[in-house]
Amino acid sequence: MSPSQLAFDRDHLWHPYTSLVDPLPVYPVASAEGYRLRLADGRELVDGMSSWWSAIHGYNVPELNAALQAQSRKMSHVMFGGLTHEPAVALGQRLVDITPDGLDRVFLADSGSVSVEVAMKMAVQYQHALGHRNRTTFLTVRGGYHGDTTGPMSVCDPVTGMHQLFAGFMPRHEFYDRPPGGYAAALDPDYVAGLETFFQRHADRSCAFIVEPVVQGAGGMHFYSPAYLEVFRALCDRHGLLLIYDEIATGFGRTGTLFVGGDAGAGEGQSRHRPDIMTVGKALTGGYLTLAATLCTARVAETIGRSEASVLMHGPTFMGNPLACAVAVASIDLLLSSGWREDIARIAAGLERHLRPAARKESVKDVRVLGGIGVVECRDPVDVARIQAQFVAEGVWVRPFGRLVYVMPPYVISDAALELLCRTVVKYV
Ligand SMILES: *Cc1c(COP(=O)(O)O)cnc(C)c1O
Repeated sequence: MSPSQLAFDRDHLWHPYTSLVDPLPVYPVASAEGYRLRLADGRELVDGMSSWWSAIHGYNVPELNAALQAQSRKMSHVMFGGLTHEPAVALGQRLVDITPDGLDRVFLADSGSVSVEVAMKMAVQYQHALGHRNRTTFLTVRGGYHGDTTGPMSVCDPVTGMHQLFAGFMPRHEFYDRPPGGYAAALDPDYVAGLETFFQRHADRSCAFIVEPVVQGAGGMHFYSPAYLEVFRALCDRHGLLLIYDEIATGFGRTGTLFVGGDAGAGEGQSRHRPDIMTVGKALTGGYLTLAATLCTARVAETIGRSEASVLMHGPTFMGNPLACAVAVASIDLLLSSGWREDIARIAAGLERHLRPAARKESVKDVRVLGGIGVVECRDPVDVARIQAQFVAEGVWVRPFGRLVYVMPPYVISDAALELLCRTVVKYV
């Protein structure tokens, strides 16, 4: 890229969560292959981010390239209103197959945020269909992240989501504390009692409880025990709320199970954990194209279908895009045949071994590892521009936010590259 192109980028293109007055530096990428990004100046970086959870197989994946090319020769897109096609059906079948039992009605959405919008509309329409027209509030916990469009933003953490700024524009929902930290921690009875009171106070005007199960991602990289999922399920049942799991970040194996809400493949107690509605996205297409899905139970779909409105009120232009569906089918097939469990176990072991030592540093408050996710929580906010320049000079790509320096590499990362990634993080935090 020429200096004038970079200058255009700086002056005219918004990047995620940046300013056009004083933007953070950006690094031009020319290509990517496996777990490496190649910068325009020829330098190669080990990718620690999987392009925000999505590129689980790495980049330039022959199977995914082939699926995309084959589909593009048939058709890249047709409207989904009144038409259907093989890639959408094949994807729907796979999603029903691999997600927790009972989630067998599928809405294909064009991004994670949109899939959460759809989940929220489903919940409102469901309650409306039951005659509960005033049940339009959502209950959730602090520290969540559900996307950037208005509906999802209204259930994101009020502080990091800057709810103050958007007050008056955004609907108001009800927040309780996030579950105490620690994947292996015992259930905290005081927390559970407080959550019960919270449900009692708000349930009669609420339609659903929405959470990221076990791992809160962009809201703070917080891990909590799956034991709380049973509490959520029980409270929702007692008070007539739907339970929505946002598995956009956790889905497709990242935490060590295919989905947190019950690993369909292994049948791990899924009935107690099963949500009524679930969103998936990010890794759905292996990081190739934007696509997400909202799955729900037959009960939710049938209640909406038999209501006065009768239809689910959503239908994006690019719904069920054949290219995206075809590459998602190829990505899921590749995942299931790839030995992902072994890869995640291997990455978890590497993170324990090479990232955990960061805990000894004065600047570090906590180090936590779950599956293919490693988090270093610093005591103070990190200087993103400075630390990224140091990382790039060492040949790794990591994008910290706030006090968090975290990695979730592609599942195909080599042991040596993972070690370099971790050692570099430990060196500069
Ligand atoms: C990224 C993310 C979203 C939003 O997805 P987009 O594709 O960026 O709109 C929603 N929920 C969770 C948990 C996410 O991690």
